[in-house]
Amino acid sequence: MTASTPSIFTKIIDRDIPADIVFENDRVIAIRDINPQAPVHLLVIPKATAYANVTELAAADPALLAEIVTTAHNLATLHAAGEYRLVFNSGESAGQTVFHVHAHVLAGNLQEHTLA
Ligand code: AMP
Repeated sequence: MTASTPSIFTKIIDRDIPADIVFENDRVIAIRDINPQAPVHLLVIPKATAYANVTELAAADPALLAEIVTTAHNLATLHAAGEYRLVFNSGESAGQTVFHVHAHVLAGNLQEHTLA
């Protein structure tokens, strides 16, 4: 990802492409994953474009990381029973495909589902 090639999530934030947005404020947006791996599969994404993965985010802006966790909890309470799995894929070999940090919020009956 470079400044000249915005990530798919930046395009969603900018309304250049559509998404099923379930929450938004000044700092974060949450959408339904287009390829759900669980009964509830949401993505919580900071609007800041500077962080490729959770390690970079944690080092630079721990308050924003905390807001992502709080948002995940609130959404899991709204969309499921309040229990959830939070996944940050970090690096290609770990399954990361979009290099704009995002949290997968997985909820529902997860015993039958694999990791995102
Ligand atoms: P990761 O593989 O951890 O980088 O996660 C990227 C996630 O983004 C995958 O679970 C994709 O299904 C999801 N995704 C990609 N494009 C879209 C989109 N346009 N709308 C919603 N989710 C998307």
